[in-house]
Amino acid sequence: MKFVAKLQPRFSTSINRRSALGLGLILGSSVFQKRASSQSAQRDDAFVPLPSYQSLLEMIRQRGHSFRVIGAAPDLSPLVLVKAGGSKKPSIVISGGAHATEHAGVVAAVELIDRLKTDHEVWIVPSRDPIGLSGFRHALSLGLGESPNITNVEEAEQLMREKGEVLVDRDDLLIVRIGEYGYANRGLYRKIDKGAKILDALRGRRIYFPSRTDDLPGAGPLERAYTLIVTLDGEVLHLNRFHDTLWAPAEVQAIRKVLADVQPGLTFDLHEHERGGFFWMSARRQRTEQDEIWERRMAHAAIAAVAAGGAELAADAYSPGDFFERLERGVYWLDPSKRGEGLNFADFASAKYGPSFTIESGMKGPFEQRVRQHLTVVQTAVSIFEERFA
Ligand SMILES: [Zn+2]
Repeated sequence: MKFVAKLQPRFSTSINRRSALGLGLILGSSVFQKRASSQSAQRDDAFVPLPSYQSLLEMIRQRGHSFRVIGAAPDLSPLVLVKAGGSKKPSIVISGGAHATEHAGVVAAVELIDRLKTDHEVWIVPSRDPIGLSGFRHALSLGLGESPNITNVEEAEQLMREKGEVLVDRDDLLIVRIGEYGYANRGLYRKIDKGAKILDALRGRRIYFPSRTDDLPGAGPLERAYTLIVTLDGEVLHLNRFHDTLWAPAEVQAIRKVLADVQPGLTFDLHEHERGGFFWMSARRQRTEQDEIWERRMAHAAIAAVAAGGAELAADAYSPGDFFERLERGVYWLDPSKRGEGLNFADFASAKYGPSFTIESGMKGPFEQRVRQHLTVVQTAVSIFEERFA
């Protein structure tokens, strides 16, 4: 997308650390207004990845939307909430980007601000991890105090050894601490035992690791950083946990507050998986029979619409994990009590508010197609939701 590429050099990562106020001043410039008018004519362009969190905020403003600041990430990037839809209750909450590598969900969340047609009030938090969205160089800059001049993962590893306290350097796994942050060269979620000594120095801290392969459009080498959180008792979790715990990262506190304020009747969390190009989604058992009946209707219509759009659904025999129960092809019920690790966004929303879907497009598919799958699921489910409250 041309306009994003043009804007990128203007808004370097250093701006990410400025306050939301400073950002507002920049976005109000006349240069910005001119670009806004050319963009509206390009609205039907292909969906492409966003280079940074800054460009996401610019795109939202450029399209004429204002946002509410609902918190701040540790780099002081504003966490933002955008209003869409109409004014009818119950409200709908849509969120993406808790795992920054799963970028199609973020772009879909931004697109839904304009594209979702409904009379219901809609609240969108397009990115729950601004730091991760802006990539591994930006994440490293938080510990280093400056943006590193690196072009690939090998250079990142070399820099981590040079500048950090090395905590683990064996086989393929490198973990260092730089300042207040941990950095790894690859994912370690569910690969290190809870309470393992090697992570003692990172308890209560974050570990960032880079996207690193070329086969996941939207998450190329260094393009995103994935945020892990080491709990005080040494368990490695991530930003889609902690929804039911007092000790929660700022990003989670912010979305939890949105849910409490809005009391949504329907929520969506836009994710992706790395296991192929196929599509699936998950739901949760509901508190009431009516909620569960409508949840099944929404899921059934949504998965049929995605399939009709040409998506490859998860195979009949596929299971995303042993804490899932299959409802129909491509749709699973997730049981968080079997999984452990506390509640994620959709677990929490289901336990407290009502039907909630986690959408999982396959990251090995074409980027634009993945974005469209998210749009299809949300629009289809919302149209059934409207029937319920007609
Ligand atoms: Zn995810």
